[in-house]
Amino acid sequence: MINILIFSPHPDDAEISIGGFILLHANEYKIKIINLSAGEHSSNGDKIERLKESKFVENRYKNISTKCLFFEDANIQHTVIDQQKRIIRIIREYTPGVILTSHYTDEHPDHLESYLLVKNAIYKAGLNIYPELGEQHTCKHVFFYSQNLYNGKGSMFIDISSVIEEKLNILSKYRSQLIQDNSRVKTYSNTRIFQKVLAKDKYCGSLINTDYAEEIISYKKITIKNIFDIVF
Ligand SMILES: [Zn+2]
Repeated sequence: MINILIFSPHPDDAEISIGGFILLHANEYKIKIINLSAGEHSSNGDKIERLKESKFVENRYKNISTKCLFFEDANIQHTVIDQQKRIIRIIREYTPGVILTSHYTDEHPDHLESYLLVKNAIYKAGLNIYPELGEQHTCKHVFFYSQNLYNGKGSMFIDISSVIEEKLNILSKYRSQLIQDNSRVKTYSNTRIFQKVLAKDKYCGSLINTDYAEEIISYKKITIKNIFDIVF
């Protein structure tokens, strides 16, 4: 059984945006990260290298596992029925309580497509359609993560101060994408990503009076059962 299912357009996206969230929940819950593509068209790193890097979290934390669906990098498309069906099958197989995926405000077109693709597949996974893909499963808790600050309707913040160092350690394992090395093509990711992550997480922390925080986004209205459960 998987408690939290996370869709990541490319290996490293989930960890960049919500690596702290993942670490905090991995103490208690089973987490599966589904990489929709292997990111084979990036400036650095081939499919094999990128897949190997994505396995670091699986090898290090017993409650985290990963899987790649090998959709073509830079060609994730929410209108492609085969891609929809693959996601629906995954949701029905793992029956998660919580699903997260990338947010539409990200710049990369695959991130926008992943938002639409996963959001639509979540809805369809709960419908009486495609019985060959498994039993219907409705996941009520759906959230999104973004590389840039959204801070709009539905934004929530989680204090990740206790795990920020480990989050950065995980990011450092994505060497082909995020680490400066003279043998690689210089990119935004391998020159500025650590600055960006630290700046965003520190700023999110300042919004809730902690050192570091991450934002997750709900598109639904949030209902509370007990007002004392809200943390300020
Ligand atoms: Zn990406």
